[in-house]
Amino acid sequence: MSFKSDITIIGAGVVGLATAAQVAGRNRSVYVLEKNERFGQETSSRHSGVIHSGIYYPPGSLKAKLCVEGNRLLYEICEKSGIGHRKLGKLIVAISDEETEQLQELKERGHRNGAEGLKIIARRELKKLEANVEGVAALLSPSTGIIDSHALMEYFAARAKESGAEIACRKKVVGIEKVSHGYKVTVEEDEKDKFSFTTRILVNCAGLQCDEIAELAGINTVKEGYKLHYSKGEYFSVGGGKNRLVKRLIYPVPETKFTGLGVHVTLDLEGRMRLGPNAEYVDSIDYSVDSRHKDEFYQSARRMLPFIEYEDLEPEMAGIRPKLQGPGEDVRDFVIRDETDKGLPGFINLIGIESPGLTSSPAIGRYVAAIVKAIL
Ligand SMILES: Cc1cc2nc3c(=O)[nH]c(=O)nc-3n(C[C@H](O)[C@H](O)[C@H](O)COP(=O)(O)OP(=O)(O)OC[C@H]3O[C@@H](n4cnc5c(N)ncnc54)[C@H](O)[C@@H]3O)c2cc1C
Repeated sequence: MSFKSDITIIGAGVVGLATAAQVAGRNRSVYVLEKNERFGQETSSRHSGVIHSGIYYPPGSLKAKLCVEGNRLLYEICEKSGIGHRKLGKLIVAISDEETEQLQELKERGHRNGAEGLKIIARRELKKLEANVEGVAALLSPSTGIIDSHALMEYFAARAKESGAEIACRKKVVGIEKVSHGYKVTVEEDEKDKFSFTTRILVNCAGLQCDEIAELAGINTVKEGYKLHYSKGEYFSVGGGKNRLVKRLIYPVPETKFTGLGVHVTLDLEGRMRLGPNAEYVDSIDYSVDSRHKDEFYQSARRMLPFIEYEDLEPEMAGIRPKLQGPGEDVRDFVIRDETDKGLPGFINLIGIESPGLTSSPAIGRYVAAIVKAIL
């Protein structure tokens, strides 16, 4: 690795890779440093794989803007490059009159955000679309879909490398020091050897460790509101051939503070069905699934999906949301900014990139590229 680079990105999840694909080229030396053996081993491979349409997020927020833009960009990328995807559509199902009122609010919010084709349907139409789903009404989102997220990461990695970027795995960033014209970055290799180099611009895409990286650069994350709260989301697979009984993604009406979107039904590209994710604040990163939660999953799913039987559910996998919103707190937006006002010009932080981070990834890459362009 050369000892001077123009742009260094910490973290090779979908966001770091999408960013590298956007900023590489123009004779810039660009490095992506990843602590794991391979890219995309953390949150970017532990999610629902849904291309969201942009319904839930506060109008004007980065989450709303980047999700809607990312939705459009992802379908374009998939069409052009043959990445596996399906625009299945999604139904948010109300099971009471009170929830039906919430559907109207969600529709208006989604419409303001630019989500396409949202429509409220009554029970009769719901039954026509999904005979096996129970509800009094639903919000149909036709532009919601699913994507092969690993193929997407391969795509971003290939675009970045074609433009000259280097993706270096087993390189853990352990030190950041502000020097004249950039940053001295210290990297631990294979958990023992260390080396340092300087970079003009440093982009923090470290997912669940983004607050630790911000601290290494000297930011007080508690004071700045950058401290992460981990919110675990577990999934249970649904067997017994039940996957053939729904055609779309089926979601409940979310609870008001949006800690998660509620346990929902997702289908993958092979047609497998799973339920999840739940949302539970945890102190550490542990991807095991607590089989004692099976009853909670079963009870919440059967309200909309009466065909599901207790025996159909098996613990599958879990992911962890890097949330800025602590328990009981209000919804927080993505933080994506150059930290010049904290005395750290050219240090670009991406903090709290939870859902819809996968959907937003190509739009986040563009957003960071615009910040970089203004600096270089
Ligand atoms: C349960 C769940 C369901 C979700 N469902 C969806 C969905 O359906 N649709 C959607 O749009 N979004 C979804 N998301 C959100 C989406 O998965 C994330 O926003 C996205 O994957 C974040 O990508 P990332 O690159 O920021 O983080 P990550 O994938 O976590 O990548 C960060 C990388 O940084 C590396 N790193 C950390 N520290 C260092 C260091 N010191 N040195 C070097 N490397 C380091 C890590 O090893 C990691 O590879 C979901 C998330 C969860 C948890």
